[in-house]
Amino acid sequence: MMNKKRDVLIQVDLDKCVGCWKCIERCHHNVLAKVELPLQKYIVVDSAENCIGCLHCMSVCRYQAIRVVRSR
Ligand code: SF4
Ligand code: SF4
Repeated sequence: MMNKKRDVLIQVDLDKCVGCWKCIERCHHNVLAKVELPLQKYIVVDSAENCIGCLHCMSVCRYQAIRVVRSR
């Protein structure tokens, strides 16, 4: 998902995400949302426009499942 206002790109690799919610706990800008299915948990980008590109979500993910790229 792209936040064009801030030139931030957020990518979630659903094959790697285990739904541990560390990134959501770390993000204070309501960008990410939980998806809880009977056999699978993962996150989705809910409000990319709120992302400030702080990279905190990426730094707490032990599974390299989320990537935030700032182009400026
Ligand atoms: S920290 Fe990583 S593995 Fe955990 S929910 Fe977030 S993206 Fe998924
Ligand atoms: S880069 Fe910062 S603001 Fe953006 S989703 Fe990650 S923790 Fe939230």
